[in-house]
Amino acid sequence: MAVPKKKVSKSKRNMRRAHDALPAASYGECANCGELKRPHHVCPACGHYDGREVVSTEEAA
Ligand SMILES: [Zn+2]
Repeated sequence: MAVPKKKVSKSKRNMRRAHDALPAASYGECANCGELKRPHHVCPACGHYDGREVVSTEEAA
């Protein structure tokens, strides 16, 4: 039900909006180099994914 804008306190408004906040990003260890990386993403440190190198790491060196 609609509520007038000025009737909703900053606290209540922010509590409502907190439900749309993005959750903290999850990280896991790279199986190759042990660096933290996002699951289902190529490792940014060594370029490995699923046990093989899929991205050249020359530019990172
Ligand atoms: Zn890695």
